[in-house]
Amino acid sequence: MSSDLHTHSTASDGLLKPAELVHQAAAAGIKYFAITDHDSTDGLAEARQAAEQHPGLTLIPGIELSTDVQEGEAHILGYLLDVENPELQATLASFRDDRLGRALRMIENLRNLGVPVSWERVAEIAGDGAIGRPHIAQALMEAGHVPSIREAFDRYISNDGPAYAGRRKMTPEEAISLIKKYGGVAALAHPKETPQVESLLPGWVEAGLAGMEVYYGLYPDDLRAHLKSLADQHGLLALGGSDYHGPGRAAECPLGGSNTPLEAGESLLALHARVSA
Ligand code: AMP
Ligand code: ZN
Ligand code: FE
Ligand code: FE
Repeated sequence: MSSDLHTHSTASDGLLKPAELVHQAAAAGIKYFAITDHDSTDGLAEARQAAEQHPGLTLIPGIELSTDVQEGEAHILGYLLDVENPELQATLASFRDDRLGRALRMIENLRNLGVPVSWERVAEIAGDGAIGRPHIAQALMEAGHVPSIREAFDRYISNDGPAYAGRRKMTPEEAISLIKKYGGVAALAHPKETPQVESLLPGWVEAGLAGMEVYYGLYPDDLRAHLKSLADQHGLLALGGSDYHGPGRAAECPLGGSNTPLEAGESLLALHARVSA
């Protein structure tokens, strides 16, 4: 048994509906399971209902927020927030709105590059979910412009790709205080993807960061060992998950494949119980 504290559903850019994700997590033997959609908690009600069928699984509500740092991004996970709070929901709705405008700009850039995709199709792929680059990548693939999602990123929409468009994002400190404001626990996602992360961590810990991903995706053991010592050094919970987005989204870690220990989920719940007592 293990934990998987980082996954995406159709409420953002994942392929599986929240209930399906929960059923598959239970089948994979995951005990502590979190859904962490980008800028949305809309999948959690359905997930909660599905989790009732699996007494061995504890669903932990989550979210993933993108923030800007120099020369890159830091993604901040928020766990166990008060998702009923209308002010929080209004804030998340505004983030999703920004995603819409930014998707339109990328579609315009792709047209100018001679690899057009239709807005209608991208919107259809995204459905009710927070729109993101994987939806555009899928449209590029369907239109025959690229053979795979990965290639769509590599050639066009990675952060330094020719069709990339950004949006104004929060700082990591702002994301951390947002999560704390609504009763959540903040953790840094996939630390290796953030440039200069080691020099930035102390400031984020100061701002209230409580955990970081150590057991992430297919991170190799030596990297995990390094991240574990970094987490210990800063008094951060050692968390982790697969960042699963569904079959075929990109070559990646399967559900539960991050081998995140049970203690990750336990320590997260224990910390939340302490801070909200
Ligand atoms: P967005 O939130 O719209 O900026 O899109 C970010 C999402 O795109 C991430 O959560 C990943 O799921 C996916 N992604 C980012 N970079 C790549 C890449 N190089 N290849 C495949 N998927 C990627
Ligand atoms: Zn994603
Ligand atoms: Fe991320
Ligand atoms: Fe993610």
